[in-house]
Amino acid sequence: MKNIFLFGECMIELMTASNDATSNMLKQSFAGDVFNTAVYLKRTFPHVKVRLVTAVGKDNFSLDMIKYFESENIDTDLVFQSESKIPGLYSIQLDDQGERSFTYWRENSAARTVMDFIDESATDILTSGDMFFFSGISLAVIQPEARASFWQKLVQLKTAGVKIVFDPNYRARMWKDKEETIQAYEQAFKLADIALPGVEDFDSLYGINSVEGVIDFCQSYGISELVVKNGPASVITILDGEKELHQVTPVKTVVDTTSAGDSFNGVYLGARLADASIAESVDKASKAAGFVIQHKGAIAPKALFNDFVQQ
Ligand code: ADP
Repeated sequence: MKNIFLFGECMIELMTASNDATSNMLKQSFAGDVFNTAVYLKRTFPHVKVRLVTAVGKDNFSLDMIKYFESENIDTDLVFQSESKIPGLYSIQLDDQGERSFTYWRENSAARTVMDFIDESATDILTSGDMFFFSGISLAVIQPEARASFWQKLVQLKTAGVKIVFDPNYRARMWKDKEETIQAYEQAFKLADIALPGVEDFDSLYGINSVEGVIDFCQSYGISELVVKNGPASVITILDGEKELHQVTPVKTVVDTTSAGDSFNGVYLGARLADASIAESVDKASKAAGFVIQHKGAIAPKALFNDFVQQ
């Protein structure tokens, strides 16, 4: 059985049930980029062993979160429980025009301490993986003083033959400044075997706003498998120097683009682990992302998504 580790933070999500500011109704759920990726990967490829690497607390929200991971068949043996910390939280509010705004309380979350738990025995387990996935958000979440240890572990994994997969997923407000991000991403690109960048992220971080620019940047690091996501326009891949352009069928009614990139990543990586070709993997991933953006929230309803996968 192929197996992948996904390293990052899952948060408690609170969503306003309506855009009526006087309504106090909130719908509680759980989400986070790497967790979303894990969910879509496992739902589409149940034969891949999917493990989250994160830290939560011992409070009731954390216990519910672990149950939620299990309900999505995600393995939790590397979900650590901090004695003193609790999970991060975010809210999504809708204004009168239906525009979403996000507020985060995650500065002191349990997930920030995850590197404290990655000891020798956890590292041994990680070296048994086929792939190790992390994002720019995962990197921002690790405390800066723990990043050196994170790079060391990645080198160990890579040496053991684990494929290192990186999605830059840039969130400016999570970093002290661009310089800090650029330094961290430099390490990530150096170690990545597979990179899944979006053109938008490169524009905000490096001022690079074309697919060609993103390709040139990534190729200077010798990444063997590159997948450049460009919204509804196209997906461009380069495998061992061979470039392919893939068309995306634009969705007519986009309801909520949250998780477009995450669902794409999950299904793409699952397909690659199942030995699908690049073209087939991109096709499956694009279709899944196209489905997800026609539903509200990060995680599309399980039954509907499963019906879609069966088609
Ligand atoms: P991110 O969420 O990382 O910014 P993108 O916006 O590029 O990523 O979207 C990820 C993938 O979702 C795209 O590669 C594409 O396959 C799909 N996608 C995004 N927007 C649309 C759309 N309007 N119609 C159909 N597919 C879309």
